[in-house]
Amino acid sequence: TRIRPSSKRCAVIGGSGFLGRHLVEKLVDRGYSVSVFDIRQSYELPGVSFHQGDLCDKQALLSALEDVSLVFHCASPAPASDDRLLFERVNIKGTQTVIQACIDAGVQKLVLTSSASVVFEGTDVKNGKEDLPYAKRPIDYYTQTKIEQEKLVLKACDQQKGFLTVAIRPHGIFGPRDPQLVPTLVDAARQGKMKFIIGDGTNLVDFTYVENVVHGHILAAECLRADSPICGKPYHITNDEPVRF
Ligand code: NAD
Repeated sequence: TRIRPSSKRCAVIGGSGFLGRHLVEKLVDRGYSVSVFDIRQSYELPGVSFHQGDLCDKQALLSALEDVSLVFHCASPAPASDDRLLFERVNIKGTQTVIQACIDAGVQKLVLTSSASVVFEGTDVKNGKEDLPYAKRPIDYYTQTKIEQEKLVLKACDQQKGFLTVAIRPHGIFGPRDPQLVPTLVDAARQGKMKFIIGDGTNLVDFTYVENVVHGHILAAECLRADSPICGKPYHITNDEPVRF
C-alpha cells in the first residue's frame, strides 16, 4: 500500500517571490516543513529546503514534491511584461505541468494564487462576488493567462481521486518587501506624475495587505477537505472596503 505523505509537509512554488516568501515564513511559524521551488533563490531560512528549477520542468518539480501533501502555486512572470509566449508557457502550460506533477507525486491539495483581475472587464466592479463571470476581454496577456490557469486548477479538483484544489484571488498586494506596488507609486510621485486624476476622482481600487493574503491561503489549505464546500472554487481576498484611489 502507498503511504500518504505527512500532512505538515508542503511546497511553495514561487516561494522566492514577494508573496511566496511571506507565505513560507508563516507556514514555518505554524509548524509546517516547507520546500521552496523557484527559478531563483532569494534568501535562506532554517527549516526550508530550496529547489531551484522551472515549473515547466516536470522532473524538477517531482523531486521537490517528494513526500509533500500540500502545494501552493504562487509563481508567475512579472505582470508588467508584455511577453505573451512567456505568460502562455509559464501560466498555462506550466500550470498543466504543476497539476500533473502534483497528481503523480500523490499531492492531496493544491492552492493557487489567482488574481481578482480575472473578473475585471475594464468597468467598475463594486462588491463583486465570486459568481462574476471571467472577463471576456481580459486587460492584458497576464490576465488572460491567469484566467486559463485558474480554470485549469479548479477543473482538476477531483474529490473521488483525493486531489483537491482552490484558488485565492488577491488584488494589489502591499506590505514589507513589496518590490512593485508602493515603490512604483513613490517613484511616480517623485517624478511629479501623480498630479493628475484618471476619471472624476471616485475610482476605487482594492489593495490587500500581504499578511491577509497569506492568511487566506493558509485558511483555504487547512479547510480544504473532500466534504468541504470550497473544493474547486475561487475566493476573492480583500482587506475590507476598497480605498479611494
Ligand atoms: P513575484 O514576482 O515577487 O514572485 C513570483 C515568483 O515566481 C518569483 O520568485 C519568480 O522567480 C517565480 N517564477 C517565475 N517564473 C517561474 C518559473 N517558470 N518557474 C519557477 N518559478 C518561477 O510576484 P508576487 O507579487 O509575489 O506574485 C505572486 C503571485 O500572486 C502570482 O501568481 C501573481 O500573479 C499573484 N498576484 C500578485 C498580485 C500583486 O499585487 N503582487 C496581485 C494579484 C495576484
